[in-house]
Amino acid sequence: MAPTRANIIFSENVRKLQPSATIAVSTLAKELRAAGRDIINLSAGEPDFPTPGFISKAGIAAIERGATRYTPAAGTPELRATVARYLARERNPELDPSGVVVTAGAKQALFNALFTLAGPGDRVLVPTPYWTTYPELVRLARAEPVFLSGPESRGYKVSPAELEEAWDPSVRVLLMNSPSNPSGAVYSMAELEAVARWAADHEVWIVSDEIYGRLWYEGDVAPGMLDMDPALAEHAVVVNGASKTFAMTGWRIGFSYSVAPLASKMAALQSHMTSNASTPGQHAVLAALNPTAEERAELEAMVAAFHTRRDLVVSLLTELMPDAAFIRPEGAFYLFFRVDHHYDDAHAGSVALCQHLIQEAGVALVPGEAFGDDHYVRLSFAASDQDLENGLRRVAELLT
Ligand code: PLP
Repeated sequence: MAPTRANIIFSENVRKLQPSATIAVSTLAKELRAAGRDIINLSAGEPDFPTPGFISKAGIAAIERGATRYTPAAGTPELRATVARYLARERNPELDPSGVVVTAGAKQALFNALFTLAGPGDRVLVPTPYWTTYPELVRLARAEPVFLSGPESRGYKVSPAELEEAWDPSVRVLLMNSPSNPSGAVYSMAELEAVARWAADHEVWIVSDEIYGRLWYEGDVAPGMLDMDPALAEHAVVVNGASKTFAMTGWRIGFSYSVAPLASKMAALQSHMTSNASTPGQHAVLAALNPTAEERAELEAMVAAFHTRRDLVVSLLTELMPDAAFIRPEGAFYLFFRVDHHYDDAHAGSVALCQHLIQEAGVALVPGEAFGDDHYVRLSFAASDQDLENGLRRVAELLT
């Protein structure tokens, strides 16, 4: 019998692996587009800007001068030292470059950290709503995700009270993501400090996904684990990267910072999986992290554009759909708003409602189910002002 999906016996490693819940909606959006329909795509998880020219040029120059061979698994020494300086904060001013691992995107850094710290029999605390990949990464490590959340009034951010309730002695890791995808919620310094203290007291590692840290609308860099006292910060793996801040999603460069012995183990894991992150990509990111004043202004203009769009979508939603509760995004480029009051027999959840919105309004959003909260949908404001305005008007017209 020819192998089909139905008769292949998949290994225990991937048996429970689910394709992303966003696929049904994005497939439908693509089909309708191919059929000539005018679809406004507000589902993107990446900046709509091109990679800034000075960064691309550095990548091209690296290729032209022959920087196309393997690098050490953890990245070039120069980039690791530069990342250590980039991530340093007032309370952790000198980071050891041997704590840096350069990865194929932040996603690989997250995988490295979870796979290295958690395994069979271990549990990982995952605050909801979560980025869609987290539970699958935990399961790939054969550990078990445990979901928890704070109150809606706090943008679902967790505090020691919720953590204590979810904890048991098999909890090894807490996955934090601030600014959050999908909600845009950002932990204040005090909130993060309380969480970090709780984790240290319980000997729980924090894997802190800070990929949107510089897309923050209240200051330069959102509070992160390296803003904590060094005794707390050393219980964390800080994950960051170039994808969002520098509009470099396709270059696949991320990085992590942790204490050096943990970084070495993660680099060893990576050495057997992908060897090293793309060499030209590493050179391009070196340029991104060392901008001239003029280049810095180009990067700041992207953040400013997201800030303006954040204000635009918040005011449009408030005006057009006043009954839609939402979390005010303080960072990242997503607006997470409630739509469950529009559910009925024909559209009984966020996936069905998103399919309806594409079919009838021609607007692609991501169902909240993909992030563990079926009451919501996620709108990405990595889109033009015109698309944001037209898209939200169409959604409001259909639903209200
Ligand atoms: N973490 C979060 C919260 C994300 O939203 C994303 C991308 O959407 C990633 C990590 C992955 O980043 P990268 O493209 O660098 O792997």
